[in-house]
Amino acid sequence: MTFSKAQDNVDVLDMIIFGGTGDLAMRKLIPALYMAFLHGNLPPSTRIISTGRQEIDREAYVAYVELHSRSFIAQENFNDKTWDSFVTMLGYVSLDVKATPDFDPLARVSRQGAVRVFYLSTAPSLFTTICTKLSASGLVDSRSRVVLEKPLGIDLRSAIEINEAVGSRFAESQIYRIDHYLGKETVQNLMVLRFGNSILEPLWRASNISSVQITVAEEVGVGSRAGFYDGAGAMRDMVQNHLLQLLCIVAMEPPTSLNADAVRDEKLKVLRALRRFKLADIARDTVRGRYTRGVGGSKEVPGYLEERDVPVDSSTETFVAMRAFVDTWRWSRVPFYLRTGKRMVRRSSKIVIEFTNPPFQLFHQCSGSISNRLVIELQPEEAIKLQIMAKQPGSGMEMQQVTLNLDLGSAFQQRRAEAYERLLIDVVRGRLTHFMRRDELEAAWEWVDPIIEGWQQLNEKPRAYAAGTWGPAESFALLARDGFAWVE
Ligand code: NAP
Repeated sequence: MTFSKAQDNVDVLDMIIFGGTGDLAMRKLIPALYMAFLHGNLPPSTRIISTGRQEIDREAYVAYVELHSRSFIAQENFNDKTWDSFVTMLGYVSLDVKATPDFDPLARVSRQGAVRVFYLSTAPSLFTTICTKLSASGLVDSRSRVVLEKPLGIDLRSAIEINEAVGSRFAESQIYRIDHYLGKETVQNLMVLRFGNSILEPLWRASNISSVQITVAEEVGVGSRAGFYDGAGAMRDMVQNHLLQLLCIVAMEPPTSLNADAVRDEKLKVLRALRRFKLADIARDTVRGRYTRGVGGSKEVPGYLEERDVPVDSSTETFVAMRAFVDTWRWSRVPFYLRTGKRMVRRSSKIVIEFTNPPFQLFHQCSGSISNRLVIELQPEEAIKLQIMAKQPGSGMEMQQVTLNLDLGSAFQQRRAEAYERLLIDVVRGRLTHFMRRDELEAAWEWVDPIIEGWQQLNEKPRAYAAGTWGPAESFALLARDGFAWVE
């Protein structure tokens, strides 16, 4: 569906990116805006006004984008003519948000009557200042929207502070807290799979499901982001947002509609039903890890402590595995195993729903596991697979696991937009369903904070794992104890 002036109620759009020279803007935001433009999903009058501290003019910024962003647009989508039109939309205002007394230079270039989208792609520590100065310079009105990058704060207290500050300038319905996992086609499809079909939902409960696994594995190390990452770690950077959001979509009750609050109410209930960890639970059911020197791709890579800008005495984790429980009727006693890490064997994000075994073993098993699994792969490929048992050809009655592959790519001969593109279009259209509400975000921190504090109290040091592996041995033991294994 392309942009429609009448339907989307946005005539003139000013997209103002704070952090418009940063890594995220170059790798994701500008390419996503280009793709939205290419497919007619931006109002023709759109202007993209980037800001940053660099003292450069518009021409230099366009050259910067050519150099740092253009290569992140897939070749098959690149069109010289469209690109030339796209860059005419770009503008740049040099602004040190801390040093400058007001945002009047920005106010001078933003058009009267425009719907303003402020994309805050800077460190969250700047969000309060940015919102205060935006408001003081008269840039915020009832049609404005603000997009907040994750992670929002470093704990519940800082998240509340940011939410209070942003909330004093923008109504909750104007705030888009982004978690790009919610923009992934397969994640959105999971809701359709669950609530648009009648065959799965009766099975989607403790009586039929023995465990749920959620893995978000990265092949890359900390790269150039050590300055940020070392103060966060895998728990704050990944579990608090991406993994808990995925867990919510797996575990939520059917919402009464697709209205943003109806969906977010159900996700909030899941977060509130997550069993709190006591110290003994933390010691038993969580694993912190940190990569050591090993192999990444096909070459030798340094350990975390040897990475640039990582303090030698750092105790930050680059890996977390844990067993969690959602204390509801539907999920009573079903373990949810969560795992995320850097420098793992390969980039792989997936959700595995493991169904219970048949009550009686009638057939002989050829090899491997006998349980049915629904595997939802989120990246690098997006696919939904159902693993079922089938008879092995031959005279006997031996069974073997086979995979029914729901190939969404060939089922829909349509382009599948990247998460950031889809979410940016949602912002332009004023659709909040795939963004986090304040109470959701705070509930996630409420659950995560005691675990991080518990690690400190227990003096829980990260366990070593070699780069290029699936994490420390303790992570495998966590599942083996319950008779399960990570599905690779
Ligand atoms: P980054 O590469 O360090 O870029 C930071 C940006 O903020 C730059 O454009 C910088 O401008 C600007 N900035 C810094 N201090 C400023 C100030 N005082 N006044 C005005 N502008 C200032 O960071 P990033 O990786 O793009 O991350 C941005 C946000 O996205 C962070 O909240 C991060 O957690 C989040 N995020 C990033 C990624 C990612 O893959 N990069 C993924 C998920 C979430 P100058 O260039 O002029 O210094």
